[in-house]
Amino acid sequence: MTDDEVIEAIFGAFAERGSTAYLGEPVSLTEHMLQTALAAEQDGADPVLVASALLHDYGHLVHELPEDSAEHGVDTLHEEAGAAWLEEHFVPRVTEPLRLHVLAKRYLCAVEPPYLAALSPASALSLGLQGGPCTADEVAAFERNPFADEAVRLRRWDDVGKIEGLVTPPLSHYLPALRAGLRSATRERR
Ligand code: FE
Repeated sequence: MTDDEVIEAIFGAFAERGSTAYLGEPVSLTEHMLQTALAAEQDGADPVLVASALLHDYGHLVHELPEDSAEHGVDTLHEEAGAAWLEEHFVPRVTEPLRLHVLAKRYLCAVEPPYLAALSPASALSLGLQGGPCTADEVAAFERNPFADEAVRLRRWDDVGKIEGLVTPPLSHYLPALRAGLRSATRERR
């Protein structure tokens, strides 16, 4: 795929599946991902990390399981599905934080009790399916991951990107961020 085809596929996936409700939250998947990207921008993240925030739930746009699957006891492993598709085209600093964003939630639940207490009902429900809070060994392993800090930042943007009716820039606003995260932008090839 050329870079333009990758961008086209992403915009197409948002257009086709993005209006789906986001797992029991009062926003659509597109609204959620745009709000997460906006939170990253407002926190001063660089464009590559903004691209990671924008794409963090891309797996929900490309897999075929129903969006209420958490209520049916299925963990859809959307973070792996998203990373698997995206890593062909984007640098690790885009794909690794998003691959880790569920583990980052389990990590924060283990090391920050107030974080666990403040999870939204839908996020608390999916936590059980995702394995619950990290064990001590999992905490140590997570902290050794070179993308752990970015994953925790992404997780916090993810958590605030659920505000009903919040106005965000459109998807096209993030085109430069997406392009900055492409492997070709850094000559980094697989
Ligand atoms: Fe999310």
